[in-house]
Amino acid sequence: MSDCLFCAIVAGEIPATIVSETPRTIAFRDINPQAPVHVLVVPREHHPDLGALVAAPDGLLHDVVAHAHQVALAEGVTTDGYRVVFNTGPHAGQSVAHVHAHVLGGRPMAWPPG
Ligand code: AMP
Repeated sequence: MSDCLFCAIVAGEIPATIVSETPRTIAFRDINPQAPVHVLVVPREHHPDLGALVAAPDGLLHDVVAHAHQVALAEGVTTDGYRVVFNTGPHAGQSVAHVHAHVLGGRPMAWPPG
């Protein structure tokens, strides 16, 4: 999709620190990390938000979440714990309209979030 920041990262048109890739998803470090581990996992295909990802065929939601867990394993945060967040819509502060899972870890995190 034109004018989509994460589509441009998927296409290699904008640089990002890619940590791992699968045929349908990529994971890259957040440019403004909120924790020692802060990685974004996105589908290569453009879907604007979580509702669209849920409706996507062939288990794409599963692929994104499974990749998020693989990132947590690779980053060494599964023992102490980690958080996976899909900000969805304005009240949640979604700022990029290409669905993405935040994988956060490496420090204790407060609940509920602010
Ligand atoms: P959200 O606010 O949930 O939509 O999350 C969007 C995230 O994308 C934020 O945490 C930003 O820091 C991050 N972000 C924005 N631009 C870039 C970029 N060029 N590379 C990596 N992460 C980015």
